[in-house]
Amino acid sequence: MSELATKCLIIGSGPAGYTAGIYTSRANLNPIMVDGSQPGGQLITTTEVENFPGYPEGIAGPAMMEDFKAQAMRFGLMTISGEVTEIDLSKRPFVAKVNGGGHVITADTVIIATGAAARYLGLPDEQKYLGMGVSACATCDGFFFRNRPVAVVGGGDTACEEALYLAGLASKVYMIVRKDYLRASKYMQSRVMENEKIEVLFNTETLSLFGDDVLAGAHLVSRRGTENEDEFDIAVEGFFLAIGHSPNTAVFGPALELDEMGYIKTKSPSTATNLEGVFAAGDVADPFYQQAVSAAGMGCRAALDAERFLMLQE
Ligand code: NDP
Repeated sequence: MSELATKCLIIGSGPAGYTAGIYTSRANLNPIMVDGSQPGGQLITTTEVENFPGYPEGIAGPAMMEDFKAQAMRFGLMTISGEVTEIDLSKRPFVAKVNGGGHVITADTVIIATGAAARYLGLPDEQKYLGMGVSACATCDGFFFRNRPVAVVGGGDTACEEALYLAGLASKVYMIVRKDYLRASKYMQSRVMENEKIEVLFNTETLSLFGDDVLAGAHLVSRRGTENEDEFDIAVEGFFLAIGHSPNTAVFGPALELDEMGYIKTKSPSTATNLEGVFAAGDVADPFYQQAVSAAGMGCRAALDAERFLMLQE
């Protein structure tokens, strides 16, 4: 076990965390970043990022996060592998315990940039087939379903992106959409609708999954509650969830104020939370925009807020 001290502890390593790392390093706060269960954050599971300014040809999500990391490391950001398992935010300095190397970190300020995790439907069979057909990451698991039929649940940009990615591998892709329209951007919608391998099932919900040891299909209902309600099965070996995310806040305890959806409340336009010296940035504190570029911008603001807070303390 080692004991470390910093003026700024950054929890999370997505665009918000690394941008906070760049700014706090350059401000000589000697920041320490704990990189979490998925170093690089959600973009690690994304294929092509086409809307982050500065990459005119687009860039693969993992490659972009390598760039973020390299830039932060250049200014001396210290990163620690592992997850914060305990932190008491009710008194300063804050003390965090990290699993893995067993570090204990004392910090004058904390920037929470823990992002959000994929949501599941909550069907009883979802957990049974997790890793045996059920997945929340097409880019991670799509490869296993080459030339096999799959389904994607959701009608947002993520669902469209996953469906398009899977269409390049699978024999057939069903999109299961509970409303009669897609919520995704017009551009993504048209790409999905033009793809011959993708069949969009509007007004359709999943009732259950079936199979033996591995997934074989899904039992669906369309136009539920109407006189045209229809239950039917589709044969799919892969079932991909793309129905949004829940913010990762479990470790922070009741002292930290959250909104009714579970996102950290910040005192906009600042990134200050209800706890002095604790700031939040990125998807964990942003139910509205949830973009890499807006997360990066918020990471910058959190770093400047932390720096200003420390200056006023002195
Ligand atoms: P969204 O919240 O935009 O979409 C979630 C989708 O899942 C909606 O269609 C929603 O349906 C559906 N859904 C939610 N709960 C359930 C449920 N219980 N059963 C069935 N369907 C459900 O999430 P995304 O992850 O797609 O996107 C998040 C943000 O990230 C958005 O702002 C998006 O634009 C952005 N993004 C941008 C990308 C890009 O530009 N390259 C790529 C990916 C995401 P309903 O519409 O009925 O609520």
